[in-house]
Amino acid sequence: MANVISSKSSSDEMTPRERFVAAIKREPVDRRPVGNITSSATYEQMRRTGHEWPVAHMDSEEIAGLAELSYTDLGYDTVMPYFGLIHGAAALGAPVEWGEDPFVEQDGKITSGPRMPACKQPPLWSGPDEANIPDDFLDRPEAKSIIDAIRILRKRHPDACVVGKVMGPWTLSYHMFGVQDFLLNIILDPDWVRGCLDVLKDVSVMFANAQFEAGADVLTLADHSTGDLVRADTYRDFLMPVHSEIAPRIDGPVMLHCCGNTLDRMKYIKEAGFDAFHFAYENDPHESKKEVGDFPLVGNVSNIITLMNGDPEAIKEEVKNVYSAGIDVISPECAVPPQVSDASLKMIADTVLEIDAQEKAGIEI
Ligand SMILES: [Zn+2]
Repeated sequence: MANVISSKSSSDEMTPRERFVAAIKREPVDRRPVGNITSSATYEQMRRTGHEWPVAHMDSEEIAGLAELSYTDLGYDTVMPYFGLIHGAAALGAPVEWGEDPFVEQDGKITSGPRMPACKQPPLWSGPDEANIPDDFLDRPEAKSIIDAIRILRKRHPDACVVGKVMGPWTLSYHMFGVQDFLLNIILDPDWVRGCLDVLKDVSVMFANAQFEAGADVLTLADHSTGDLVRADTYRDFLMPVHSEIAPRIDGPVMLHCCGNTLDRMKYIKEAGFDAFHFAYENDPHESKKEVGDFPLVGNVSNIITLMNGDPEAIKEEVKNVYSAGIDVISPECAVPPQVSDASLKMIADTVLEIDAQEKAGIEI
């Protein structure tokens, strides 16, 4: 399906879909978009609607029912139906713990519930020689459920920006070969690491293009070569060439997502050929924007400090700071912890509307 959207001048009111895509393509927008391109699913939403994990990781109707709430209830421009990190690995055959924990309530607040799914140990493959990409990858339930959820959301919300998601070959390598071996071999056996990336890069492209075909407008490619684990020159030497190769093979706008400290590698990420970068709270939004110039940035309201533990004033203040830095899409920094309240998430969208109205009225913010 071709996802062609006409661009408009910034004075016309845009649909959320038009607004978000324009921002990523560096075109004029009627206001700054708000979204979350990783996950906005919360325990509150699950309890209120009955679309609960772990079923809402595997059943496309349940996934769509949970994903659409950011658009229908929170005022975001996006819907994002891939809540965790491991659907791609699971469809490759990795054993997964899907998270069956019960919901726990304290003083009327849900304090815990089903955890995000995670890959079980030991990893499925010991090295690239053992890797075997199944021919029916896209038809396996873990991949198909996401693709079908995108199809449902596209049909149900023609004006929403539907965001797809895949893991890049770096994160897939953590899941399929084990984090420790993968990171150690950057030093001990660089060819082994390159072999892992080489065998998994096509999985990212295949899954991404199936999501565009199903109706996604934009796509998050999450690849966690974060400053907490690897150096900037490791990104430059190992992953950047792979990113440069796969970015043009993906059939729509791609936003790279990477958590943690990334300021020292943003110049490489900008060069790698992606359309935008979703960055985390550890990086000052003003310094980040200065580093990358007109390359679109998505972010970076703190999940833990602000959304989970801050009061409404703290959320407003941080949104104003991120906005004033010129960040192109205002968003939580990463998948929100599901304990975050919907009121906190909605505060991001409400604050952006407020700032926008003040700007248009000529009031200094
Ligand atoms: Zn993240």
